[in-house]
Amino acid sequence: MLTIKGIAAASGICIGHAYRIGREEINVPKEPIREDEIPLQIQLFEEALIKTRREIIELQKKIGTEMGQEEAQIFDAHLLVLEDRMLIEEVISRLKKEHINVAYIFSEVLKKYIDVFSKIEDEYLKERIADINDVGRRILRHLLGRSRPSLAELKEKVVVVAHDLSPSDTAAMHKQNVAAFITDIGGKTSHTAIMAKSLEIPAVVGVEVATTKIKSGDLLIVDGGMGIVLVDPDEETLKAYQAEEERLKGISQGYLSAKDLAAITLDGRTVEISANIEFPDEVPSVKLHGGEGIGLYRTEFFYMNRKDLPTEEEHYQAYKYVAEQMHPHPVTIRTLDLGGDKFLSQFEMPYEMEPFLGWRAIRFCLARPDIFKLQLRAILRASVHGNLKLMYPMISGLEELQQAHKILTEVKDELRSRGVSFNENIPVGAMIEVPSAALTADILAREANFFSIGTNDLIQYSLAVERVNEKVAYLYEPAHPAVLRLIKNIIDSGHNAGIRVGMCGEMAGEPSLSLILLGLGLDEFSMPPQVIPELKYIIRAVTFKQAQEIASEALKLSTGKEVEDYCQAKFTEILK
Ligand code: PEP
Ligand code: MG
Repeated sequence: MLTIKGIAAASGICIGHAYRIGREEINVPKEPIREDEIPLQIQLFEEALIKTRREIIELQKKIGTEMGQEEAQIFDAHLLVLEDRMLIEEVISRLKKEHINVAYIFSEVLKKYIDVFSKIEDEYLKERIADINDVGRRILRHLLGRSRPSLAELKEKVVVVAHDLSPSDTAAMHKQNVAAFITDIGGKTSHTAIMAKSLEIPAVVGVEVATTKIKSGDLLIVDGGMGIVLVDPDEETLKAYQAEEERLKGISQGYLSAKDLAAITLDGRTVEISANIEFPDEVPSVKLHGGEGIGLYRTEFFYMNRKDLPTEEEHYQAYKYVAEQMHPHPVTIRTLDLGGDKFLSQFEMPYEMEPFLGWRAIRFCLARPDIFKLQLRAILRASVHGNLKLMYPMISGLEELQQAHKILTEVKDELRSRGVSFNENIPVGAMIEVPSAALTADILAREANFFSIGTNDLIQYSLAVERVNEKVAYLYEPAHPAVLRLIKNIIDSGHNAGIRVGMCGEMAGEPSLSLILLGLGLDEFSMPPQVIPELKYIIRAVTFKQAQEIASEALKLSTGKEVEDYCQAKFTEILK
């Protein structure tokens, strides 16, 4: 039995067989061919292109019906690769010149393309490498007469093992057939990890050696909560984990009993427990898990995996749907948060040494008022259909907040002059996720209707630890005293100014740390829908006074580890 440690991304235990994707080496034999075999080889190549095209269109249809048109559009880029005349012509001309089998020639041309693209420092082109690779492998498999079932077609539950997950792999991942996943790279708050929680499947990321140590078919135990993968476990370990799996199932059933109850402490303090979503079709899950609203709607996913920009009408329809479905509960729409680890192919973003510190989020929106205004118009128009709020990501200082307000005022004036109705008093909040904003929260609070703390970014910026980098993941500590002090300052500043303070970073859904946040006076906790029942259960099991004592003790401690241990001990004591 081999034990591999990674980063706990989505909790839960899964016992199943490995299905390795992405980095498998396709061995392509090199065979000489005769002049008269060339037409046949060209025909083979054309057939492989046609089969690949059919396969992608089918997959696109399936994803479209099961997951929605947005996810299906991922494959448009793949279809474009199939039409790349330069690539096709190079294969045919080399085939005629070199007299070597077409599969080999194609694999060589593919390698050359990938090599050239990877040397160019341009994020747009880097995204294209994944597409070329994906489609290239499909073509190769057809040329070699091999097939790999796509994730969407898997018949039995598997544990997906990948170097990283491409957008198309993630979108094709269906709850029914992917029981868990493991990746070589990534951090706890990377897009892959957040997605795993949405899909409710255990995941361990940043394993580094997953694809080298695990083969397809290996029996695995994935402990998503501990961030551990056991390869080829012995009988005794297997039995122990089966029992643990049952125990955890029992516990989560227990939590479900609290899902529709208010999040009220034993001594009467009520907080709001809401959900984070990326797509409108997550609304049923929010309701199912007892979400009291949507505290973060990450709208940038709307722009992803498509070649064109979403129109105002598309934005409007999506926001209207979510607002109506959640009514009377509030829905907080975050304006476009592009950049960092989220790149969009529609914009040719300049290469940046430090994308997380670069042209991101509100900075991008202020520089592109055309794009920003279109989204604001749609949000305002949709505001008459429910209880909508809006907030700006990555505010780093007062001027930025004021500039954003100015643009919002212009959009309101325009709509008013056109006679379009909207909620004149739509609450407008600022995400506090940059240390400079956290430290000047008292100033920002004068011009915001509410705050939402984005700990995923606040932690990376305050501790100087990239959130997606597995190499420094050990330093990514939500419980670090510096982070706690910043959070305390934000909450106190907000309250002094009479505004509510919520949190929508992953930290809000961390069970043991939630006691500190409750004690610090956080008003709203927003998290992946599946965590909601457990959080409600916890809040209902403590008194506010206990939580305040825990927070004040935690703030006296010197390291993240001390805080974590202290909270864990208190958590076990109270929740036992
Ligand atoms: C955050 O930074 O905590 C946050 C909620 O936003 P995102 O994870 O989308 O950057
Ligand atoms: Mg953020």
